[in-house]
Amino acid sequence: MKNILNIEFGFNAMKKLNEHPKVRKSHTIFFVDIFFKNSFLIKEILIKEKDFLYFVDSTNELTTTDVNNVLKTIKETNNNYEVVVGIGGGTSLDFAKAISNLLTNKGTAEDYQGWDLVKTPGVYKIGIPTLSGTGAESSKTCVMINLQNGLKLGMNSNHTVYDELILDPSLAKTVPKEQFFYTGMDTYIHCIESLNGSHRHPLSDAYSNQALDLARQVFQSEDMMSDKNREKMMVASYFGGVAIANSFVGVVHPISAGLSVVLGIHHCEANCITMTAMEEFYPAEYNEFMKLVEKNQIKLRRGLCQNLSKKQYDDLFDASTMHEIPLKNALGLDFKKILTKEKVIELYKKM
Ligand code: ZN
Repeated sequence: MKNILNIEFGFNAMKKLNEHPKVRKSHTIFFVDIFFKNSFLIKEILIKEKDFLYFVDSTNELTTTDVNNVLKTIKETNNNYEVVVGIGGGTSLDFAKAISNLLTNKGTAEDYQGWDLVKTPGVYKIGIPTLSGTGAESSKTCVMINLQNGLKLGMNSNHTVYDELILDPSLAKTVPKEQFFYTGMDTYIHCIESLNGSHRHPLSDAYSNQALDLARQVFQSEDMMSDKNREKMMVASYFGGVAIANSFVGVVHPISAGLSVVLGIHHCEANCITMTAMEEFYPAEYNEFMKLVEKNQIKLRRGLCQNLSKKQYDDLFDASTMHEIPLKNALGLDFKKILTKEKVIELYKKM
């Protein structure tokens, strides 16, 4: 397991970026969520003349095409970039990781979708999450969808891990309530999947249990987005990311991936929608999840998979059951006997 070397934590820690020796001295690439385009945050970052600034539209999930296109533009500048900074939610953080790796490894994003395919360390990367939950700040992957073959898979590699993080809970203050919930729940779901899997060990369990405890404190409280809770959620997300870097997810993420690939639903919302059909696989967690949805007055979209075409159901089945590693982790080697096509379609119709 690779650890992150430096972590700055606390309210307004973000301001340290401008004083960062590497950022001050080198040409830097910034990936910033478009949500901040006209905000206080972007005005506070000192962008130097030869820096490269890219605003990430996180409406849709990150694709390998997005990554390849931006990589091409960056290379055309002929500048020698020594730092990549990702500021935003999972999509912005993952975008920065992918570009960092591709600046030092030849080829395109598709070439590295898989495990341990990245051979050379990427450009020095700094992650600044503005949303908590995906664990993208601490995980060793960057999730991308290949639109040609429907493959949703990241560059799983120690080289994908950030070199440095700035965890500043003041950045999540303006997040819409629903988004805060969906994203925070991603951590909760990573942990319950990891803890219910067969591929577990004391290291990942310790991180999962701590993250889960913090997430429960946040979502069971009266104001999930208070200053204290945003602090806790930021730590929970980081721990959840470390937990999952050392273990595997289970049934929720593969089924959720189907919703993302076929219906274009964003990862964290798709996970929450998937949870509504998980009673049989994670009964205690299903009950807890439904209570937390109610307590925090979150309106989940329902019935999205009711009247789809035969092709869409086929695609949902393929896009979910192709994730064999997590499904084996959750259901054993014979998971295909449990997740038959009929069964999978039934689950989607339950949502
Ligand atoms: Zn996730």
